[in-house]
Order: sequence, then C-alpha cells, then structure tokens
Amino acid sequence: MTGRWDNKAKKRIDVSMPAIVADYNNHMGGIDILDSFLAKYRFRIRFRRWYIYLFWHFLSMALVNSWLMYKRECRLLQLPDKQELPQRKFQAIVAECLVSVDSDKKRGRRTSSNPLITKQKVVNIPCADVRKDQVAHWPAKSEKRGRCRMCEINNTNTMCSKCGVRLCFVDGRNCFVDFHA
Ligand SMILES: [Zn+2]
Ligand SMILES: [Zn+2]
Repeated sequence: MTGRWDNKAKKRIDVSMPAIVADYNNHMGGIDILDSFLAKYRFRIRFRRWYIYLFWHFLSMALVNSWLMYKRECRLLQLPDKQELPQRKFQAIVAECLVSVDSDKKRGRRTSSNPLITKQKVVNIPCADVRKDQVAHWPAKSEKRGRCRMCEINNTNTMCSKCGVRLCFVDGRNCFVDFHA
C-alpha cells in the first residue's frame, strides 16, 4: 500500500501497489548506476532481430555486475587502487578469456595480454583461466633467449606456444609445469 493525494476527497488515500513497484522504488538508485555503467561501453552493432539486443543487454548487465563484484573483492582484499582493473580493461580480459580458454591455436585466438602491474614494469601474461586450462600449452623454441617468466633466474629459449612466455625446463626446476599448474 502507498499513500496518494485524492483531489476529489481532498485527502490522502491508500492505494494498493504491486510489490515490483515498491522494489523498484527502493532500489532504483542502483538501477540508475547500472544503466550509467552499461551506457559507458555499449555494443554499437546493429541487428535485424530485436531479441539479439536482449541477449547483448543481459550479457552486458552480467559483465557490469561481475566487474562491480570484482571491485568489491578488491576492496575487501585491500588492493591498492592502482591495481584495480578499470571497467574497460576488465571487460577486455573477460572477452579474451572466453575466446582463449579451452582453445588451441587452430580454434581460438592466441592469448596476448593480461597486464599485471609489477614493481618495475608492466608484464603481459595470460589470465589464470587460460593459463591453467590444460589445453594446447605446447613447448616451442623461441629465436631469442630470455629470462624465464616464472623463476626469473634462468635464461631460456623454451616457451609456451599458447601463453607466449619463456619458461625454463632444466635439471632440478620445471618452470613450464609450475607456470601452468
Ligand atoms: Zn624458470
Ligand atoms: Zn601456456
């Protein structure tokens, strides 16, 4: 029930209100915020069929909501603001994981970057969903030798063909396995 001014009776009267309206009124602040995040990076694609728009809308909503949950986790973990991924980057990484996970080179695109900020520089490694998917991480030889991404001690020309990073495999150390475990 909610109150409404009645002009004829010149007094406030009670009218019934569907529960969904009450819910909306209580939470519309949150819906406005969600809409503004959705509007920020909207898919600008034209479709002939209206229900495709619905699909993209729900997908976008799930994406924004998961980013908000990610931000909440970051706050709980007390991560510095700098390390928090902005919405656009977060969306890009989710997209990249979706196309790369469980794929090999023939079926999917080679994963390129998940920028993690380290003390000295930005390094690119694939996200954990791709790194640990156990699919098509074949060893390959790179032209140039370089520092192993895992132990950062050994110089090696062995690399993962999917992740695109150098990983050593020597007596007493198997960074190739450690990186993907
Ligand atoms: Zn190593
Ligand atoms: Zn790999």
